[in-house]
Amino acid sequence: MPELPEVEVTRRRIAPLLVDRSISALVTTRPSYFFLTPPARLRRALAGRRVLALDRHGKYLVARLDDGSRLVLHLGMTGQLFSSAATSPRLLRASARAVLAPEAQLAFVPDEHTHLRIAFTDGGPEVWMRDARKFGKVLWLPPGARHERLDRLGIDALEVSGERLFTASRGRTVAVKSLLLDQAVLAGVGNIYADEALFGAGVRPTRRAGRLTRAECERIAAALRRVLTRSIETGGSSISDYLAPDGRDGAYQDERRVYARAGEACYACGAPLRRVVLGARSSHYCPRCQR
Ligand SMILES: [Zn+2]
Repeated sequence: MPELPEVEVTRRRIAPLLVDRSISALVTTRPSYFFLTPPARLRRALAGRRVLALDRHGKYLVARLDDGSRLVLHLGMTGQLFSSAATSPRLLRASARAVLAPEAQLAFVPDEHTHLRIAFTDGGPEVWMRDARKFGKVLWLPPGARHERLDRLGIDALEVSGERLFTASRGRTVAVKSLLLDQAVLAGVGNIYADEALFGAGVRPTRRAGRLTRAECERIAAALRRVLTRSIETGGSSISDYLAPDGRDGAYQDERRVYARAGEACYACGAPLRRVVLGARSSHYCPRCQR
């Protein structure tokens, strides 16, 4: 599933294709749960609008439009946002890229999973959103409108401080791992980065959040910012179906220290890593390095 780093990588790559361009038309698939705003309304609302900026809050991308309205996109599990001029996100894995001729690399044509196609008045490349499993979401917010999906998000995980985390954890009886995954506390932290940050901070995922010390909260916040920033730099994590918008694979998965490594030796101390299930999610940790 795309996590914060993948969404931020997507934002940085797609922003130049959206910002300062005027939308001429929208092509969508049929109405479905993918569209929180009905496609017909979406088409009417966006035609003629200019995109002022593309922001990110947690895992949501928010395009600000010139009439004060906003287009909100969520990539869900398998969502991909890319340029119609980009190499095929479906056909191109690193191995395929090496053997395909340049013209074949441009062979992607919109299929039944391409739910959104945004065309621009300048006639340049379109922006397409494709989602094979359709857990993604598209929402248009009129000027001034609010939405609970955005309102209930906590501070963006890239901006978290130890002090914020310490305050948020007071009185909480949940495990620290569950607290980190709570989007109302921290927006954008997913399973991989929560595990990696807790390893970096030397704190066990099962620790009761309310009992964390101020120093531990500082270490967790610093580790979170570090793993997220590092993952953004390497292009996101790219596991399973996720591919960057231009078809490139992310590289962060090579740097994971504990996630999905249960039973393998800790890189720091050699102890076998453990896996524990918390709130229906797997957590991975080192019994020696994490207290
Ligand atoms: Zn260890």
